[in-house]
Amino acid sequence: MSKVAVIGSGFAGLSTATFLAHQGHEVTVFEKNSTAGGRARSFSENGFTFDMGPSWYWMPDIFERYFGLFGKKVEDYYNLIRLDPSYRIFFPDDEVDIPAGKQELYDLFESLEAGSAKKLEKFLKEAEFKYNIGINNLVHKPSLSPFEFINSEVISGVFRMQVFSSIGSHIHKNFKHPKLRSILEFPCLFLGGTPENTPALYSLMNYADLHLGTWYPMGGMVKIVEGMEKLAVEQGVSFKFDSPVKELVVDKDEISGVRINKELEEADFVVSGADYHHTETQLLDSSHRSYSEKFWNRQVMAPSALIYYLGIDKKVDGLLHHNLFFDEDFKDHAKELYDNPRWPSKPLFYACAPSKTDPHVAPEGKENIFILVPVAPGLKDSKEIRDKYLEVILDRMENRTSSNIRDHIVYKKSFSINDFKSEYNSFKGNAYGLANTLRQTAFLKPRIKSKKVKNLYYTGQLTVPGPGVPPALISGEVVANYVNKIYDV
Ligand SMILES: Cc1cc2nc3c(=O)[nH]c(=O)nc-3n(C[C@H](O)[C@H](O)[C@H](O)COP(=O)(O)OP(=O)(O)OC[C@H]3O[C@@H](n4cnc5c(N)ncnc54)[C@H](O)[C@@H]3O)c2cc1C
Repeated sequence: MSKVAVIGSGFAGLSTATFLAHQGHEVTVFEKNSTAGGRARSFSENGFTFDMGPSWYWMPDIFERYFGLFGKKVEDYYNLIRLDPSYRIFFPDDEVDIPAGKQELYDLFESLEAGSAKKLEKFLKEAEFKYNIGINNLVHKPSLSPFEFINSEVISGVFRMQVFSSIGSHIHKNFKHPKLRSILEFPCLFLGGTPENTPALYSLMNYADLHLGTWYPMGGMVKIVEGMEKLAVEQGVSFKFDSPVKELVVDKDEISGVRINKELEEADFVVSGADYHHTETQLLDSSHRSYSEKFWNRQVMAPSALIYYLGIDKKVDGLLHHNLFFDEDFKDHAKELYDNPRWPSKPLFYACAPSKTDPHVAPEGKENIFILVPVAPGLKDSKEIRDKYLEVILDRMENRTSSNIRDHIVYKKSFSINDFKSEYNSFKGNAYGLANTLRQTAFLKPRIKSKKVKNLYYTGQLTVPGPGVPPALISGEVVANYVNKIYDV
């Protein structure tokens, strides 16, 4: 039986550990923090329970498949509901709610631009095709060579996949109304890029959004973490929390064990689900690193985030569960994220009020609000900056919802670049890993297999397939299946 050390209990670490244990390996997960979930942990204060990171549950099929591969169902672990409307967008002049129902969605498009409902139907048909090939085929590859992608399904569909054109031009060709363009461009934020540098292949995310829908696990996103941790234990995984890995001990070109404080834990192979850059630069000496610092500095990082967790002592009218404040120009904000990294002058932001759906996350009659502002990674982060942006955001929220919010804040906490670094050893304090640009897709991303150390593998949002909860589950599966072919159980 091979002994495996998995570093980190984020979604990718949990996934890879569970698959490897299921395949018969002896798996221990070493996690620096005291609970599982990584960026998706939660905390409770004053009767409020806050999800710390992800809040959008998209692609329910991927979660069903995940639990299904172990003979389980999602409902064995948590109760999922579909949100309708899926979300609200605050534009400069009004609000648009995105309905879950197809006909209502077509009606909405048609009301903004004559003829756009038919175009949307065709757009989503193409997106469905991309989703099916992308999710069933492309993302399940270890992506160690471009030749893995040469198969009849991919070759015959290569032009329809639109890998080499941008999603921005694809949307602009089909839709003229600025609000429709914004609705369709919004998922690029999940991919960490802009509509201009994200391949049109990723209109598959529009299919995920507008067809598969926005869901919510009652109790919060942390219920997914709890479900996956429970499943991992059922499959035989051992967890060691408060156990930061300090060093990978390498003899010649092979790891013999992982050092946690002063203890050395033997391992036949290691899968790191911790931040790739951290593993390379902090746990290995320079001769064993696959990528140079120059390489990392060339990568287009997905944004970091400035987050506020607010407890409000009343219900806030005018908000839905998910609310996108697109009342400023994304182009200006994007420049400050990517081209000229600086704190945004007029940020777009996102406000999540899960207590609109879920009575468990706030005391009765109160509101749990999570606010996220995308910001460039690597910026200087300070209390003064965080305080300043909270004022800007509260002004805009109060104005648009016609509610007094600031006088009703009974709990407040912020989280940003410095916390991403200290809590998760995150490169430049990134929140979502690498942007999914064309040059950072599939075999062009940092590889799942170390180039220098024989028995070291990587999973998670800085390798394939990329950022997001569903990709993290797939990343863990891909790595486990790859190494399972190499090591005896
Ligand atoms: C604010 C925010 C909002 C998001 N919103 C969404 C969303 O709505 N929907 C969606 O699908 N995705 C969303 N994402 C993205 C998604 O949450 C991530 O892509 C995913 O959770 C990453 O999982 P991971 O396992 O790759 O990494 P992580 O969750 O970071 O896991 C890595 C783990 O490694 C541990 N670790 C690090 N160093 C060490 C060490 N030396 N020793 C031991 N352990 C170590 C860390 O503590 C952590 O637990 C969001 C992310 C953030 C941050």
